[in-house]
Amino acid sequence: MTTNATTAASPAGRVYLVGAGPGDPELLTLRAVHLLQQTDVIVYDHLVSAAVLDFVRPGAERIYAGKRRNEHTLRQEQINTLLVGLAREGKHVVRLKGGDPFIFGRGGEELQTLAAHGVAFEVVPGVTAASGVSSYAGIPLTHRDYAQSCLFVTGHLKDGTAALDWPAMVRLRQTVVIYMGLGGLSEICRQMMAHGATPDLPIAVVQNGSVATQKVVIGTLADMPQRVADEGLVSPCLTIIGEVVKLHGSLAWFQPETAGITP
Ligand code: SAH
Repeated sequence: MTTNATTAASPAGRVYLVGAGPGDPELLTLRAVHLLQQTDVIVYDHLVSAAVLDFVRPGAERIYAGKRRNEHTLRQEQINTLLVGLAREGKHVVRLKGGDPFIFGRGGEELQTLAAHGVAFEVVPGVTAASGVSSYAGIPLTHRDYAQSCLFVTGHLKDGTAALDWPAMVRLRQTVVIYMGLGGLSEICRQMMAHGATPDLPIAVVQNGSVATQKVVIGTLADMPQRVADEGLVSPCLTIIGEVVKLHGSLAWFQPETAGITP
C-alpha cells in the first residue's frame, strides 16, 4: 500500500521556521512576534534568548530542542520527526532558531523533511549573528576604506583540521565572519598567517552579542588565541577578521549594562 504524504498531512497543520535574531528581543521581526503570540507549540534551540521566549503566548507548549555543541538534546532526525508529527496533528508550530534559520541554522534541512512529508511551512528570516552582533560591537562589515566584500564561514572543525578555503580567507579588502569559530580559533589564525595574512590583521571575538553579557575582545591574528584564553570566552562567540575591526575603537555604541532598558 502506498501513502500519499500530502493527504496524510491534511489537517491544516503548519510549521513556521522563524529566526529569533542574536539575542536582543528588540531585533525580532514583527512577523516573529505575531507568530510567537499566536501559535500552539514552540520548538526552540539553546541560542534563543530568554528575553525572546518572553514573547511566547502563555499556554503555548514549549519544547526545547537543544543543539548545544556535542550535547544535542534531541537529535536532528528526532526534531524532524517531531515537527512532522505536530503538523500532522493539525498544530501550528513555530520552529524558533537563533539568528537567521537559513544561515548555519540547518533550516534548509528541516524544511526538506517537511517538504518530503507534505507539511506546509513558511520561513521568517531573522537578524543573523554576522549582522546583529557586528552592529552591536560597532564594527561595520563593509566600509569603503577597508572592505568591499564579506565572507561568512563556519569554523566548526572536524577532527581539529579546518577544511576552509584558506586562499579565499586571506583576500585583501575583505571581512571574514566566522560562526562557531571559538574551538578552532588557534588553527584558523595559524592557517591564515601561513597563507599570507599579516600577523597584525585586526580580529574581534564577540561573546553574547546584543545582550547584557556582551563582551568584545580585540586583538590580532598573532595574539588572539591567547587573549581569548586569558579572557575565558565561551560560546556563543562570533569572530570578525579584517581592517574594519579598527572601527570598533570609534564606533562602539552599545552599553551592555543598559541592555533591556528600552527608551
Ligand atoms: N543561525 C544563526 C547561527 C547559528 S550557528 C545565525 O544566523 O546567527 C551558532 C553560531 O552563531 C555561534 O557559535 C556564534 O558563532 C554565532 N552566534 C549566534 N548568536 C550569537 C551571539 N548573540 N553572539 C555571538 N555569536 C553568536
